[in-house]
Amino acid sequence: MKRGTIIDQYLITNFEIMNIPNTFELFGTTYNVVFDEHRCNKESAYGICDYEENTIYLTESYNTKVLPVESVENTFWHEVVHLIFKRVGLDDINDEKNVSVAGSALYQIVKTFKY
Ligand SMILES: [Zn+2]
Repeated sequence: MKRGTIIDQYLITNFEIMNIPNTFELFGTTYNVVFDEHRCNKESAYGICDYEENTIYLTESYNTKVLPVESVENTFWHEVVHLIFKRVGLDDINDEKNVSVAGSALYQIVKTFKY
């Protein structure tokens, strides 16, 4: 996963161990994952799922504080669930709790994969 902006060494180190892809496919469409601290902070969000741009935006810092890697990875899965719900017509404006539960569950599964 490539960051949009390199702020300092700590963030670079964080970035390198993050298990977040540059792109992924869902239902035959390719989605991008982009780090954009400015946009996320401007919209007061840890992550944004832009359905028109087929892009998930994430940030490694919020209000100038560096976020834990786990928080950023969890946000990625949260936004993926938003995307799944949207694409299958299950999206609901009051759905934040369900999205958070499903996103955290998916993240836990992926994080504990053993091969
Ligand atoms: Zn959400």
